[in-house]
Amino acid sequence: MGDFLYRLFKKNKFLILIFLLVPIAILLNQKNEEPKNQEVNVYTSRHYDADDLLYEEFTKETGIKVNIISGKGSALIERLKAEGVNSPGDIFFTVDAGNLANFQKQGFLQPIQSKAIIQTVPSELRGENNEWVAVAKRARVIFYNPALVSQEEINNIDYEDLADKNWEGRVVIRSSSNMYNQSLVSSLISNLGAEKTEEWAKGLVSNFARKPQGNDRSQIMAVANEEASIAIANTYYIGIMLSGKGGNEQLNAAKKVKIAFPNQDNRGAHINISGGGVLRYAPNRENAEKFLAFLLSEKAQNHIVNNTFEYPVLESVKPHPLIDNFGTFKMDKTSVADFGKYNPEAVKLMDRVNWQ
Ligand code: FE
Repeated sequence: MGDFLYRLFKKNKFLILIFLLVPIAILLNQKNEEPKNQEVNVYTSRHYDADDLLYEEFTKETGIKVNIISGKGSALIERLKAEGVNSPGDIFFTVDAGNLANFQKQGFLQPIQSKAIIQTVPSELRGENNEWVAVAKRARVIFYNPALVSQEEINNIDYEDLADKNWEGRVVIRSSSNMYNQSLVSSLISNLGAEKTEEWAKGLVSNFARKPQGNDRSQIMAVANEEASIAIANTYYIGIMLSGKGGNEQLNAAKKVKIAFPNQDNRGAHINISGGGVLRYAPNRENAEKFLAFLLSEKAQNHIVNNTFEYPVLESVKPHPLIDNFGTFKMDKTSVADFGKYNPEAVKLMDRVNWQ
């Protein structure tokens, strides 16, 4: 055999060359394909310092470096527009399905391909063509002061009831320019139709205890301070307040209010999301999807809900104990993509009823 090869090589020097060159070429090629500077560039308007630990964990698991570009949603949009096809952005994160849908409408996103991601996130928590997915849920619910509201008044309460004369001068909620409110109104349009929703909004506005002012936490504070009987606000704010992270004044106020989950006899309490999508020109599309999949893992979901006080997307994960204490409740399964669909109508409607 050795003799045969020797004669073969001697006769054909070309073969020797190939035998030498092929392994070198393979080696060189492998070197080229070797993940050099694997990274993912995350544009986010929802950045928590505690998330840095999470990104480190992702890098440890995958070797992919996470670069965070954080800023206000509007500033990030301007930046993406300026960068155009050359944008290094891979992922965009923000709060509220209305914001995600508006962002998607402007053509900034591409559909997520990963079947695992799509199977993990229920269809009502994704964009119509999987342009974005939820990584956490938040409920927009009723906060009330038990010193001012009777059990009978609050039992089985629906959002629809807040337009009743009974609540005249007793309701606080932030302004109509706030996306959380626009999405709540959009969900009502989706369920009740525009006409009924406008009638409802008119009644709600006539029940305001004051001109809309401040953020969600200010509404909860107003209820605690007996400036109003009930407020509409997102659940995670009571978690932040009860945790003491917002200071003593907020902690004491939070202890004075209770939560009523609306519409428990019908569609359930209004659910919104924070979430993200893969950017249209993502240079690291696969890494972007790996990152999204990681955020939907049990480990990451636990980390997210324990830092933001939101509800998990994964059913196997429990919310933070301060939020879990409020108990389980029926969540509205209206598609959050509808919040984007009906947003223009909602904005006009709120304007017509003078919701400031
Ligand atoms: Fe918020």
